[in-house]
Amino acid sequence: MGVGETALLKQHLIDPEICIRCNTCEATCPVGAVTHDDRNYVVDPNKCNMCMACIAPCPTGSIDNWRTVPRVQAYDLAAQLGWDSLPPPLELEALGPADFEAPQTEAAPAAELDSPTRAALAQRPVEYGATLPPWSAARAYTNLYGPKCEASSITASVAGNVRVTEIGREYDTHHIVLDFGAIPFPVLEGQSIGIVAPGVDGAGRVHHPRQYSVASPRNGERPGYNNVSLTVKRVLADHEGRPVRGVTSNYLCDLQVGDKVQVIGPFGSSFLMPNHPGSSIVMICTGTGSAPMRAMTEWRRRLRASGKFEGGKLLLFFGARTKEELPYFGPLQNLPSDFIDINFAFSRALGQPKRYVQDLMRERAADLGLLLADPNAYFYVCGLRSMEEGVVLALRDAALAAGLSWDSVSSGLKSQARLHLETY
Ligand SMILES: Cc1cc2nc3c(=O)[nH]c(=O)nc-3n(C[C@H](O)[C@H](O)[C@H](O)COP(=O)(O)OP(=O)(O)OC[C@H]3O[C@@H](n4cnc5c(N)ncnc54)[C@H](O)[C@@H]3O)c2cc1C
Ligand code: SF4
Ligand code: SF4
Repeated sequence: MGVGETALLKQHLIDPEICIRCNTCEATCPVGAVTHDDRNYVVDPNKCNMCMACIAPCPTGSIDNWRTVPRVQAYDLAAQLGWDSLPPPLELEALGPADFEAPQTEAAPAAELDSPTRAALAQRPVEYGATLPPWSAARAYTNLYGPKCEASSITASVAGNVRVTEIGREYDTHHIVLDFGAIPFPVLEGQSIGIVAPGVDGAGRVHHPRQYSVASPRNGERPGYNNVSLTVKRVLADHEGRPVRGVTSNYLCDLQVGDKVQVIGPFGSSFLMPNHPGSSIVMICTGTGSAPMRAMTEWRRRLRASGKFEGGKLLLFFGARTKEELPYFGPLQNLPSDFIDINFAFSRALGQPKRYVQDLMRERAADLGLLLADPNAYFYVCGLRSMEEGVVLALRDAALAAGLSWDSVSSGLKSQARLHLETY
């Protein structure tokens, strides 16, 4: 028997029963080992070098699964894509001599990368994002409800559903309030929840949960109530612009007050706001990426109203195609300018040149430079995946214009948990 046949592989697998298809692992993996189809996220055994970069960012822990298998029997991508649950571990006796093989990689392990590859990786925006919460963040509860949790999904009641973008436009975004009644559901600003739409998909399987950021502060959409709000955009075209009816977003936008909804979660333990006095928050978002920013802003507004907390600066960069498509445009304008510094960018406003959030950031480079140099300033980016690169480049340019070294600023932003990226 050849060495390749006896060698054992500790194979990295994703649990399809718990995975909420958030794409974090695929975006994080430096060697492109994670891929997905409509249903499952999977790890390519020929690419994964076990660098563990994907483990901490996974909000559910579903990425942290391992099976010892003979190398020649490693589960290939086709097998993993067909799973509804993980296979049971193989009997150790069936595995033969414990002859563990080093990870098989098509891509070089991180330690052996040549400098041009390193330089290319250094440009990946996701690499700049922190995987830990700010030191002063409150402790987040995660995975209280859902598959394989002690308690399965819970039922919430719809307490409100209002459209927050102008009626008559194709862009339809709703502010939806879900009430948990007597069921404990602690959430923090920046966390998300999973919604399980009723019915089954084309293959007859229960719909997989979709994730939505919580748009309300920790003490409820209505203070003192056990409820949360969501900002949901109705998906009527896919990312390529082809007509499609997104399963869960359409289900949510059509809900009536009193309807019941299956919820899992909460998820997320790093995209959390700082809680120490004097801490500043820079929020950069597009579309429904405004949800966590609304939650953080409202929590700081409530703290300010209590007179018991002295925060630092709040700076918001918010992009949309037009002001009619911008969720919460009206209420945002009512916030006092000594509380929050708001900057809007519209890319399709009639008769106006196109402006994106990164253009606004460049205009405010001097202020951003000061905040980048301030260890008490935290940066949050949420919205379309395509915004990440432009935003990180705008931050880099602001740092350079302020005479700062981008290498030390960017490594500090990550190691001190000061830059948080959440895009989808
Ligand atoms: C961490 C996290 C937080 C999120 N927070 C929010 C939030 O606050 N509000 C919100 O509305 N969504 C949010 N999402 C996206 C959300 O989870 C769903 O992906 C989205 O609502 C589409 O689900 P669907 O079931 O309606 O569409 P699906 O039935 O899953 O998809 C239908 C088709 O549309 C494509 N598609 C999916 N989403 C979009 C989109 N946004 N634009 C264009 N095409 C799309 C899919 O690729 C597919 O081809 C978040 C995602 C993540 C990972
Ligand atoms: S362990 Fe590393 S190489 Fe493997 S999937 Fe995770 S990030 Fe990619
Ligand atoms: S839940 Fe974890 S395993 Fe699933 S897509 Fe998100 S990061 Fe990957």
